[in-house]
Amino acid sequence: MEDCIFCKIVRGEIPSDKVYEDEDILCFRDVNPQAPVHLLVIPKNHVPKLSDIDVESAKYIGKIFEKIPSITRGAGLDKGFRVVANCGEYAGQTVFHIHFHILGGKRFSPVF
Ligand code: AMP
Ligand code: ZN
Repeated sequence: MEDCIFCKIVRGEIPSDKVYEDEDILCFRDVNPQAPVHLLVIPKNHVPKLSDIDVESAKYIGKIFEKIPSITRGAGLDKGFRVVANCGEYAGQTVFHIHFHILGGKRFSPVF
């Protein structure tokens, strides 16, 4: 997608602080961290939001979750971390390329 900011990061057109990359997924630090450690994990192919996932894109989403244990271990989040995904503007999504926030490095209050 031409104008998608995360696709631009994937293509190397804008810089990012990369934490993990393979042929299917990319993990980089959020520019506006909401916790001592705030990572974003994305599939490299453009899928706008969670409600757009289909059989094909689900493979990349599965890969993201396959890699989260090693990514979080590498980031020193052994005590625990939170994964957040906002789907749609109503839920607070601002970048319409699927991403999972990984937040850690502090103790969180319960969400509910
Ligand atoms: P969301 O509100 O769930 O769509 O989350 C989008 C996230 O992307 C926000 O936490 C932003 O701080 C983050 N973000 C936006 N642009 C960049 C960028 N160029 N590099 C890293 N993180 C970004
Ligand atoms: Zn994109």
